[in-house]
Amino acid sequence: MLDKVVIANRGEIALRILRACHALGIRTVAVHSTVDRNLKHVAMADESVCIGPAPSSDSYLNMASIIAAAEVTDAQAIHPGYGFLSENANFAERVEQSGFIFIGPRPETIRLMGDKVEAIRAMKAAGVPCVPGSGGPLGDDAATNIQIGGEIGYPVIVKAAGGGGGRGMRVVQTEAALATAVATTKSEAKAAFGNDMVYMEKFLENPRHVEIQVLADGQGNAIHLGERDCSMQRRHQKVVEEAPAPGISEQQRAEIGKVCVEACIRIGYRGAGTFEFLYEDGRFYFIEMNTRIQVEHPVTEMVTGIDLVREQLLIASGQKLSIRQSDVVMRGHAIECRINAEDPDNFMPSPGLVTHFHSPGGPGVRVDSHIYEGYRVPPNYDSMIGKLIVHGADRAQAIARMRVALSEMVVDGIKTNVPLQQRILTDKGFEAGGQNIHYLEKRLAERKEKTLSIL
Ligand code: ADP
Repeated sequence: MLDKVVIANRGEIALRILRACHALGIRTVAVHSTVDRNLKHVAMADESVCIGPAPSSDSYLNMASIIAAAEVTDAQAIHPGYGFLSENANFAERVEQSGFIFIGPRPETIRLMGDKVEAIRAMKAAGVPCVPGSGGPLGDDAATNIQIGGEIGYPVIVKAAGGGGGRGMRVVQTEAALATAVATTKSEAKAAFGNDMVYMEKFLENPRHVEIQVLADGQGNAIHLGERDCSMQRRHQKVVEEAPAPGISEQQRAEIGKVCVEACIRIGYRGAGTFEFLYEDGRFYFIEMNTRIQVEHPVTEMVTGIDLVREQLLIASGQKLSIRQSDVVMRGHAIECRINAEDPDNFMPSPGLVTHFHSPGGPGVRVDSHIYEGYRVPPNYDSMIGKLIVHGADRAQAIARMRVALSEMVVDGIKTNVPLQQRILTDKGFEAGGQNIHYLEKRLAERKEKTLSIL
């Protein structure tokens, strides 16, 4: 078992990792920026090291400082959480070269999945269903690209191989618009990701976002933990997630899960991971793999009873997976609402002092948050201040519990998106389940129009 772990992250996920470590008797080192001295997990960690000033480029993205913190505290391993350096293959490599364990997949795997063209190629070879597409990078020859577009059929989407966070993609409706779209996406990708490689895919018009959680030990064993539906999105950012996905049958789950497990074994995957799919007309289309723990992992934990961060730590310590596929049973339904420090109407970030905080409770209610009364949300990072997760015997009970939990939640001093989450949880379309990835934006646009017409 690991002895001491550096938590190379902040906020709720840092606290989540700390809790999993302490439950296993692993000591923790919190690394933090100067504005994050008062984070909850910093106070609770066995040791803490300030790794730099507020800008993440100087602290949470500062590889040398983080590795130095592991050295001075004599830690064994580094957990990267999500975001920041979690999917940076160079970081994973430097961590290993410095003699530490990187809690995640091998650097080669991270590198493979970070290049979407290569990732799709590898997944196709492993039998994972992918979106019909160019099957490789697009060149500069307009005629060839037009031919590829014609074969795929419009609309198509041009995507950056090195893209992420919903950036670096462009939908193309007609052949006439293709050449310009390829050129623009290329130059944007070059500027944003330092890599101008782009590829083309069929643009699915009304898909849902359904993803499969996997765990693999890198020693030939892998399992899946079912799916999550993350279709409630705004600007490609997930807002509400749930497990299981409404309308997915046991057989579909078993089939797509098996494909993912086989792909994991084939590429020698190690750790927790997520296969992201677009789901349309009863079919799954792979879009990318996330080689880390995800924000929405708790909904899977609630329905399976498996602590994913604990499993990450056990795998990193070299243990074989102790859970067999037949041990994984999905029970009931779980929903997660992301709680952001932002204006619920115009989505402007709302950092500042939390003057009062009341956390909801009751059966099946879980709050993963680092905020407390007197905590100041800094303006420097992502606006998420926590996650509210509920579990119920079925989806209706989960929705009912979430409505009550949201109504109990009090965060004063800053604005939060709780009112938006309340509107979503009482929305008829959400209640029906199975909406596509455009649903939330459409509803928000309708609301805006209504408000304007009242004025
Ligand atoms: P990122 O790494 O930036 O998150 P993804 O490949 O996961 O990029 O795509 C992000 C989002 O873009 C998807 O969740 C979906 O909303 C949209 N998208 C991507 N590819 C397609 C496609 N082929 N058809 C329709 N929508 C797509």
